[in-house]
Amino acid sequence: MHIVVCIKQVPDSAQIRVHPVTNTIMRQGVPTIINPYDLFALEEALKVRDYHGGEVTVLTMGPPMAEDALRKALTYGADRAVLLTDRHFAGSDTLATSFALSQAIAQIGKSFGTPDIVFTGKQTIDGDTAQVGPGIAKRLNLVQLTYVAKIASIDFSARKITVERRSEGGTQVLESKLPCLITMLEGTAAIRRGSLEDALRAARSEIVKWNAAEAGIEDMTKCGLRGSPTVVKRVFAPTPRAEKAAQIDTTEKTVRDVADELVTSIFTHQPALEHELSSSRSA
Ligand SMILES: Cc1cc2nc3c(=O)[nH]c(=O)nc-3n(C[C@H](O)[C@H](O)[C@H](O)COP(=O)(O)OP(=O)(O)OC[C@H]3O[C@@H](n4cnc5c(N)ncnc54)[C@H](O)[C@@H]3O)c2cc1C
Repeated sequence: MHIVVCIKQVPDSAQIRVHPVTNTIMRQGVPTIINPYDLFALEEALKVRDYHGGEVTVLTMGPPMAEDALRKALTYGADRAVLLTDRHFAGSDTLATSFALSQAIAQIGKSFGTPDIVFTGKQTIDGDTAQVGPGIAKRLNLVQLTYVAKIASIDFSARKITVERRSEGGTQVLESKLPCLITMLEGTAAIRRGSLEDALRAARSEIVKWNAAEAGIEDMTKCGLRGSPTVVKRVFAPTPRAEKAAQIDTTEKTVRDVADELVTSIFTHQPALEHELSSSRSA
């Protein structure tokens, strides 16, 4: 059994700052982390491997420094790491990213065994589009199981998988055939701490590094800026509201007094709301 987990190195959003003049995200000096949903995907993959046997390969497309994210994934227990790096990938939108990753996954299949499951996170915390997983599935003609919180069971002999998918209003239990692509939500399992043995192995491991040609990519017009119809033209912080927030002084007031004052203040600012509420009550 072979599982491929796509991980992306992202800026630590807790420490992201927006440039006060240009309103662009300041990435310099911001520590990077593995996209959190990708860690849950990795944990789920490792759990499956630990139970059923096989191998987990982690894959990232990014600059050479993305190797750090792969080494981190190896310390959690991944068996192999592949870095897809080439200046031709710079400026990739989700279309070009899913193209490059799908080609690399096909190459991983040829080199190390066809994957039974490909994992991605639900979405990243920087680009936030949630398009790359479904994009890879479409290109590789894989069944896609999105917003998965947990793998309930796998029957390899019958080539079947059962997952719990979270949707608005509840959980769906889906059964599907293998191979498939899963986009992973925050999982139900706690992310493991890597063992000392894994940390030592990760430090010594050789990362497989492929440029576009080594990943089997022939059509370079589908990569990077050339293959990207979408360009992020501007990133800006929301303009602060001119109106100052009203404050209610709560000293020596009962909860009821404060609630009354709050409701009065809301209805004073939005009289239509009071009208709507009273007509919905009388209906
Ligand atoms: C603020 C901002 C807004 C953007 N908006 C758009 C937009 O609207 N349209 C557009 O086409 N592009 C957009 N981009 C570019 C986009 O970030 C890149 O195309 C990126 O390569 C993939 O998109 P994502 O980060 O949204 O991934 P998502 O689709 O959110 O990622 C889902 C999963 O795919 C996997 N994955 C994604 N990227 C990689 C990678 N490089 N290596 C390995 N696995 C990966 C991970 O498992 C991840 O959890 C935006 C970028 C930024 C910074």
